[in-house]
Amino acid sequence: MSRSVADSGQGLAPYAATDAHSHGRRHAEPGPAYRSEFQRDRDRIIHSAAFRRLEYKTQVFVNHEGDLFRTRLTHSIEVAQIARSIARALRVNEDLTEAIALAHDLGHTPFGHAGQDALNACMQLYGGFEHNLQSLRVVDELEERYADFNGLNLTFEAREGILKHCSVAVARTLGDVGVRFIERRQPSIEAQLTNLADEIAYNSHDVDDGLRARLIEMDELVEISLFRDQYEEVRHRYPQLSQRRTVHEIVRRMINTQVVDLVETSLTRLQQAGPTDIEAVRRHPEALISYSEAMRERNLELKRFLRNRLYKHYRVHRMTTKAGRVVTALFEAFMEDTGLLPDEARNHCQRLEAADGEAGRARAVADYVAGMTDRYAITEHERVYNPKELT
Ligand code: MG
Repeated sequence: MSRSVADSGQGLAPYAATDAHSHGRRHAEPGPAYRSEFQRDRDRIIHSAAFRRLEYKTQVFVNHEGDLFRTRLTHSIEVAQIARSIARALRVNEDLTEAIALAHDLGHTPFGHAGQDALNACMQLYGGFEHNLQSLRVVDELEERYADFNGLNLTFEAREGILKHCSVAVARTLGDVGVRFIERRQPSIEAQLTNLADEIAYNSHDVDDGLRARLIEMDELVEISLFRDQYEEVRHRYPQLSQRRTVHEIVRRMINTQVVDLVETSLTRLQQAGPTDIEAVRRHPEALISYSEAMRERNLELKRFLRNRLYKHYRVHRMTTKAGRVVTALFEAFMEDTGLLPDEARNHCQRLEAADGEAGRARAVADYVAGMTDRYAITEHERVYNPKELT
């Protein structure tokens, strides 16, 4: 792959991803001017339709519940911010890190995990539905922006980072990015750290959003050590501070303490393992990016808390149950009669059905439903099912 003037190979650790050692793009293209290959990936992601739709997709709270809650878009930007800080501290490729972070949730259905679970149930006979796999499908197949190829034609390294997990059976159908799941190899340092930055971002902002929505309370959260330590420090330093500012001070410190732990633990592990290049990172028997054992425990404690008290809260559960019904009903209506689909989606459906029969039709319907924003799904549901609604 050609080296461009903007490739910031200098100053990076030997195990960082670089243009010079990239496995390249599926469709050969001339190198970019004044940008690195990974900057170009990042730019293609930002200009994609799927990226814009993240603005109206639920993270935990449905978009219309309030303007202050995180959406998939603001979540992805927060992940990129945290991941870039870690990448810079570890002297690995920030451009690639940012590209992976901004693309990691492109395949999410409307209504967060409730939507994905419903769509997965609908797709049981046809290979299932998994949002992470769908993120790869969006950048590899579904975006229609180029004359010469489907998708965004991202570098191998960006695609490797987007595909976080997958079964061996599915991996066999994915070509180059599937190989590591068969051979049990690791992805790049940039991919590993972005995965953990995602976790740091959502654990912390779900605390913030959960408190704002009054679904969880401070006096429950102080049971959790990751929260309690920061709470005590903030209370000690600022005894008169308002609740709102106290929460922000705590959440900021929670993110910081996790990032510092991750950077320091990972630097030690990298020093001990001494990978000489990105291939040595991939061959290493385990991930080189990780928290300390103590931080991993504290993280699990917070995750368990959020699962039981926030994600299973009856108000969240009511929303997710309704959301699941909307997604299931849309899938069923379109699967039964593809004549209900708008022209573009119906053409996509006909192409996939011609190649793959009923499974192809189901996949195309899933692509259409998965691509919807929350509000578009609700409107489509009305248009398809409500006789009083004009279509
Ligand atoms: Mg995420």
